[in-house]
Amino acid sequence: MGQLDHVLEKNRAWAEGIKADDPQFFQRLSNQQAPEYLWIGCADSRVPANQIVDMPPGELFVHRNVANVVVHTDFNCLSVLQFAIEVLKVKHVLVVGHYGCGGIRTALRNEGFGLIGNWLRHVQDVRDRHQSVLSNCDNEHDQADRLCELNVIEQVGHVCQNNIVQEAWKRGQRLNVHGFVYDLADGILRDMGLSASSAESWEQVKQNSIDELIVRPVRSGRQKKA
Ligand SMILES: [Zn+2]
Repeated sequence: MGQLDHVLEKNRAWAEGIKADDPQFFQRLSNQQAPEYLWIGCADSRVPANQIVDMPPGELFVHRNVANVVVHTDFNCLSVLQFAIEVLKVKHVLVVGHYGCGGIRTALRNEGFGLIGNWLRHVQDVRDRHQSVLSNCDNEHDQADRLCELNVIEQVGHVCQNNIVQEAWKRGQRLNVHGFVYDLADGILRDMGLSASSAESWEQVKQNSIDELIVRPVRSGRQKKA
């Protein structure tokens, strides 16, 4: 018995279950993928992209890293972005943060060390840029939640400012960039009200989002329009 036999057994049972419902499922998927969505999320094991939005294999193209950061020189993330936009022609890029993020909390507390400290420095840049918003929070817990939200706003910005996205918009490709936050406590994905579909729209969307955070309770998501 191998140590990971239970993993392989679970996989076989899963594949059998899918085939019982749809015998051609894997054969069809092996020929091509045509996802409409690129998900850029945190690597946290509690935030599994497909399960959260109840989408089967083939519907989400996924990139995950610690604290869902989009760095202009990260060729891993940029390669995913380029392939998703130029080859798969996804229609939506979703940047998905999550409340209770260990990476965000570590960055907030200055606890990152070694290699991860360099990665989380990007989140600390977000923290430092928005001290005035964070200082409105009553406690560290709320500050961490707010930093999750601010980090999503900033990373959506990095996607919008990226030349792969800018070029797509310039040639008229239909592409929307969105910011969501997932709550580990209730399993709900909250729309941050960020949605950009052109280079011109992003700056206004960003400023409105940050202004709104000042008056919006943490974990509240987008305010419903009356
Ligand atoms: Zn996380």
